Amino acid sequence: SSWWRSIEPAPKDPILGVTEAFLMDQSPNKVNVGVGAYRDDNGKPVVLDCVREAERRIAGNQNMEYLPIGGSIKMVEESLKLAYGENSEFIKDKRIAAVQALSGTGACRLFAAFQQRFHPDSQIYIPNPTWANHHNIWRDAGLPIRIYQYYHPESRGLDFAALMDDIKNAPNGSFFLLHACAHNPTGVDPTEEQWREISSQFKVKGHFAFFDMAYQGFASGNPERDAKAVRIFLEDGHLIGLAQSYAKNMGLYGQRVGCLSVVCEDEKQAIAVKSRLQQLARPMYSNPPVHGALIVSTVLGDTQLKKLWLQEVKVMADRIIGMRSELREKLEKLGSRLSWKHITNQIGMFCYSGMSPEQVDRLTKEFHIYMTRNGRISMAGLNTGNVGYVAEAIHEVTK
Ligand code: PMP
Repeated sequence: SSWWRSIEPAPKDPILGVTEAFLMDQSPNKVNVGVGAYRDDNGKPVVLDCVREAERRIAGNQNMEYLPIGGSIKMVEESLKLAYGENSEFIKDKRIAAVQALSGTGACRLFAAFQQRFHPDSQIYIPNPTWANHHNIWRDAGLPIRIYQYYHPESRGLDFAALMDDIKNAPNGSFFLLHACAHNPTGVDPTEEQWREISSQFKVKGHFAFFDMAYQGFASGNPERDAKAVRIFLEDGHLIGLAQSYAKNMGLYGQRVGCLSVVCEDEKQAIAVKSRLQQLARPMYSNPPVHGALIVSTVLGDTQLKKLWLQEVKVMADRIIGMRSELREKLEKLGSRLSWKHITNQIGMFCYSGMSPEQVDRLTKEFHIYMTRNGRISMAGLNTGNVGYVAEAIHEVTK
């Protein structure tokens, strides 16, 4: 009876708390730009047509047997082609150790456990700021977290010089987490040229690059373009780690389907690494769920469905890019004296607006607009029906 007496409730998750407050609000004008989930122009969640068609094909044809510990071989193969390139030598040479993961979170968590097991004295460098869960994931894996500089508040862009300094100043052979594209929460990505410099500095220092790629295709509308950073590191001969997620780019949020891969020196090493990833997964969850993996392998393994997916992911990206232009234009038309260029310079799901916590509080209290207090706007929550209202409200609290 006294086993748990000393336990205090955990602090609320800041993002999920925003949604709770939004749901309680009775105002007809209320807007949720907190959670990072795609919405269509009517503010409704979307299931892609390619996914619906894949489900039709799967329906009734599948037994419910366990997958192997490493998950669906076919889904993993398709994921590697998507990230590393259709004709990747690493795939041909069987140099990539890869397993299905419980979406992007699970891929990060499994990698963190792997890092901890085989480099127990290592630490992880994560950008400032980053997706808040990165802190939790590496903390729970038992590894110390170090911060590298990334965002430049004045320009609302990348602090490239500071980033390069931190890469140089980290001990040789450090582990770094990099957002492959559409950095969360800032929407600020290095340019291609900057990625090349980062990659060559990583070579000089012998750092390990772990890419978290939660938004491939969702950023620019083109999965190939969004894989550019990963490809640059591969060209330069880095043995990277990579977390992939189908939550955003295929709208499979609740299906929890993703992939973790580690590039190895040769096939023999890849076999060993994969067996160790499986060994780590076994006591955590035994094997990953079937349904989402089957959707992904059905979509990506079929020429027509893949084509449809490419169109649909572009529609999602384009709608968000369009909302960026509209929000910026509307703020400028309202006569805001502030610069809003960063709204269209940033990319992906989020706009790091630069608004203060107090300004965000006013947006919520006076205008029923819900978002995290760091000023992050989930662009997918905007649509032609509410972007004007949101622009006026932002203008009002930033005067
Ligand atoms: N990494 C980053 C940077 C993200 O933004 C997200 C999604 N919020 C994830 C990983 C993982 O999401 P999921 O586990 O739903 O794939």
